[in-house]
Amino acid sequence: MISVEIKGLTKRFSGAGGEDLLALDRLDLSVRSGEYLVVVGPSGGGKTTLLRLIAGLDTPDFGETTFWEAGLRIEAAAENLCSRIEVAMVFQDSALYPHLTVRGNLELGLKVRRVESLERQRRIEDVGLACGIERDWWQRMPSELSGGEKRRIALARALVRRPQLLLLDEPLSNLDAPARFELRELLRRLPGRDAMTLIHVTHDQAEALSLGQRMAVLNKGRLQQIGTPREVYRKPANLFVARFLGRSPMNIVEGRIVIEGCGTRWFVQNSGIDGFKVRLPARVGSGGSDPAGSGYTGPVLLGVRPDSALRVDAGDLREDPLSGRVGSIDYFGSETVMEVTSAGVRWLVSWASSSNEFTVGESLNFRIDWNEVSWFDTETGQRLNLNRGAEVTEVPMP
Ligand code: ADP
Ligand code: MG
Repeated sequence: MISVEIKGLTKRFSGAGGEDLLALDRLDLSVRSGEYLVVVGPSGGGKTTLLRLIAGLDTPDFGETTFWEAGLRIEAAAENLCSRIEVAMVFQDSALYPHLTVRGNLELGLKVRRVESLERQRRIEDVGLACGIERDWWQRMPSELSGGEKRRIALARALVRRPQLLLLDEPLSNLDAPARFELRELLRRLPGRDAMTLIHVTHDQAEALSLGQRMAVLNKGRLQQIGTPREVYRKPANLFVARFLGRSPMNIVEGRIVIEGCGTRWFVQNSGIDGFKVRLPARVGSGGSDPAGSGYTGPVLLGVRPDSALRVDAGDLREDPLSGRVGSIDYFGSETVMEVTSAGVRWLVSWASSSNEFTVGESLNFRIDWNEVSWFDTETGQRLNLNRGAEVTEVPMP
């Protein structure tokens, strides 16, 4: 299987007013052999540019992409028929040949590669079956297909080529919920998956969290972080990643860590009169690789995901909870997200809907799950490792 090594990849465009646009900025990225990597980031972040460069459809201004198989470098201009590796890209708009039937679309790439007729039919039948392509679609023209069907055909057209590297550009965007669900299930168990390395790009963080074996976060042409979805969600490398992931944004509270009396550590929120102060558990700050990790005091940004603000029942005062009034309620089915103002700070808390019977204006109590918080440097926005625990895979900002 193929691995991909991207080094210093840089691509500039000139904008409408002639200004310089840096679509990719010295990007380094290693794609492991056989993995399903999702590259996620806001629109305009450089995702399509990245795929086009990997596919060899564009040339970079600097940097290079190399392909490796079993430790050997493969010289390959992708999409070049003489190359030894097969790279297939599925474009965001499907890009089916409008004058060919569904079958014709699947067959063309094979004919060009001189795959003989019987083998062509066999591959088309197999992939068609695995991709849920119905018999009566074969003779249809692309204009007679729905958006979800077109995506499926475009994917099948890539798969019949038996690619070693499959590049997917926003394969699930702009589909209705059932079509999205079906296509997502298909992506999870693609025919020929055992022999493929996949790079899927999307602006949708939920898609990246659910589909990627690893995910890479890209913003403004720069890699922000790469890791498993769990690592990146739980230990975001910087404020951008922290805010970009999650259905509701992470609460970010500006304050400082102070030590008082007999070594008790507190987080004190920065504000005038009604700021709050919470005691930190002893082990916060007792480990971590950051030099500030042991005994750090000073300014910090505290990051708390809405689902790490845990419910404390009225009357249960063991935890010294924060309390506040419910300002608004967003019902999402299984969870309910509420805006709560506590000591002048606006928090989002997300609780299971089943345990939630609050109404606007009511007061509620919550506590912070200190195992799940993130700390960031107030100046750079980079993660501080004040918590003991697993190492973070993080990429320093250049
Ligand atoms: P994404 O796919 O993440 O939305 P793109 O890779 O399409 O981002 O674009 C990254 C940046 O490069 C954007 O600012 C975009 O406007 C610019 N860009 C991309 N392709 C071109 C092009 N062919 N000409 C000019 N600017 C481009
Ligand atoms: Mg794009």
